Amino acid sequence: MTTGKINVSVENIFPLIKKFLYSDHEIFLRELVSNGTDATLKLKHLISIGEAKVEYGNPIIEIKVDKEGKKIHIIDQGLGMTADEVEKYINQVAFSGAEEFLDKYKDSAKDSGIIGHFGLGFYSAFMVAEKVEIITKSYKDEPAAHWTCDGSPEFTLEPADKTSRGTEIILHIAEDSLEFLEDSKISGLLNKYNKFMPIPIKFGTRTETLPKPEDAPEDYINETIELDNIINNPNPAWTKQPSELSDEDYKNFYRELYPMQFEEPLFNIHLNVDYPFNLTGILYFPKLGTDMQIQKDKIQLYQNQVYVTDNVEGIVPEFLTMLKGIIDSPDIPLNVSRSGLQADGAVKKISNYITRKVADKLKALFNENRADFEAKWNDIKIVLEYGMLSEDKFYEKAGAFVLYPTVDDTYFTLEELKEKLKENQTDKDGKLVILYAGNKDAQHSYIEAAKEKGYEVLLLDSPIISHLIQKIEGDNSGLTFVRVDSDHIDNLIKKEENTISKLSDEEKAALKTSLEAYIPKAYSVQLEAMDSQAAPFIITQPEFMRRMKEMSQTGGGGMFGMGNMPEMYNLVVNTNSDLASSILNTEDKTHQEHLVKQALDLAKLSQNLLKGEALTAFVKRSFEMIK
Ligand code: ADP
Repeated sequence: MTTGKINVSVENIFPLIKKFLYSDHEIFLRELVSNGTDATLKLKHLISIGEAKVEYGNPIIEIKVDKEGKKIHIIDQGLGMTADEVEKYINQVAFSGAEEFLDKYKDSAKDSGIIGHFGLGFYSAFMVAEKVEIITKSYKDEPAAHWTCDGSPEFTLEPADKTSRGTEIILHIAEDSLEFLEDSKISGLLNKYNKFMPIPIKFGTRTETLPKPEDAPEDYINETIELDNIINNPNPAWTKQPSELSDEDYKNFYRELYPMQFEEPLFNIHLNVDYPFNLTGILYFPKLGTDMQIQKDKIQLYQNQVYVTDNVEGIVPEFLTMLKGIIDSPDIPLNVSRSGLQADGAVKKISNYITRKVADKLKALFNENRADFEAKWNDIKIVLEYGMLSEDKFYEKAGAFVLYPTVDDTYFTLEELKEKLKENQTDKDGKLVILYAGNKDAQHSYIEAAKEKGYEVLLLDSPIISHLIQKIEGDNSGLTFVRVDSDHIDNLIKKEENTISKLSDEEKAALKTSLEAYIPKAYSVQLEAMDSQAAPFIITQPEFMRRMKEMSQTGGGGMFGMGNMPEMYNLVVNTNSDLASSILNTEDKTHQEHLVKQALDLAKLSQNLLKGEALTAFVKRSFEMIK
């Protein structure tokens, strides 16, 4: 038997490992199962190049929990190690690796932490074990070795009588980690980290009832057999070629990934690139609607089929973090902090690639089946609109598939819309006027007024729309977006000469005085000579102020404080309306007040502004009138 002292500069690194990674003790299992997987894949490779002359067979990795003995066994059938290799790889490589890791970790711990805490490897075993044994037999014709270490730098190494190829790691679980001896805990961890690892993983057995034979007698008792309980799918969909997969396969994989998710995804994007970096994965567009809900089923990051994290911030462009699915890339550095990740050139390339793939897929879907794309628009628009705002590369491509629906569900691209509106919807400076509504019900009367004139009205109801239209206007000097209730429709789109006013200047001045006597200061009164059929009183909310206010409420940079501004309203009075004449010509002041207030309330009603006490008073007054 050999005993020795492992050469480490830190006298005892185990307390350090425990301390630094306190919240992540559970990764020990992932690390050890990964080592077993690597050892198995390495053997496969050696056999394929003729280096190892042994039978590969159907290797699995087995996890056994011995609750009474307080032990966990991780057993693989990989290439194994000779005694010399244990000296080299475990005593030297693994230890120096652990030291290096700790050095890095100490620095970035102050930062936001290392993603997934990858890289600790074999020594993560000491986060949960007070003693670790390795019993290993190499594929080479050499005796098996037995290594033991209790966490101090002293170890023992002696021959063992293991005859089958592979490595068994035995963890003697420490008193403060006994929770890991629960089957449910281990199967939970295997399900989280190892669900798609490339070598079958056995945890326990399951019984299966055999089918009853056809000629079975009356009193036949069903036979059962014990089978290995394999907890993973070693060949998940993303490792296959898109050409091998049907729509149903993609949907099945979605269910496998999120068993608790019952809604089907709208479509998927298969990522597959091997140069200049390696990345595979499948992203799904879920049904999103207009609310940016907090997500529980997030995109998962894997590395060679090993789960790392579901915090993909910095790797996936922010607007796509609302998607679901997985990405797998060995080229994402995991032992750096998040801020380091964002500065990493390779990671930036990956993020740009994902953006481009998503844009290309959307364009293809749009071109292949526009009707289907339109039908899905409401569920995907929030991601796309957010993408246009946050990623210039996406914005550039978005023109080809981003849609602008009308209140009557006709969908235009921006180019189509420009073409459509250029005849009929321009303002006095020749700019295209894009009329839109934010809410079909609340702005119903304004929408109707615009439609009566033959104008197209868009329905743009995303919470971030004001930011987006601001950006689009900035890039398209020839067009302007105005909400239908931002002014009287005839002021928004000037078609012919102004209507001649029925009232003289003196009459207008008198009308204004009478109106202002009864109308609250919050409204600025605006007299307009319009078609006599046009609504006599309407309340409008100027586009610019309303948009700025909305932008500041949904996180517009540099506009803090505007969210607290009061709403600004105009009262537009049609001087050519019969009501305007009546108000002007009424001698009886009480009656005049009555007319103005009733008209104001009606205008408020159609802008959804009449509420509470004012609404009660209005209803009461109106009943009086029809008695
Ligand atoms: P890493 O896996 O990142 O190299 P580890 O600390 O996990 O670092 O392991 C150090 C070395 O020990 C590995 O590179 C490998 O050579 C050897 N090793 C660990 N586990 C096994 C195993 N189950 N079978 C064979 N070799 C192993």
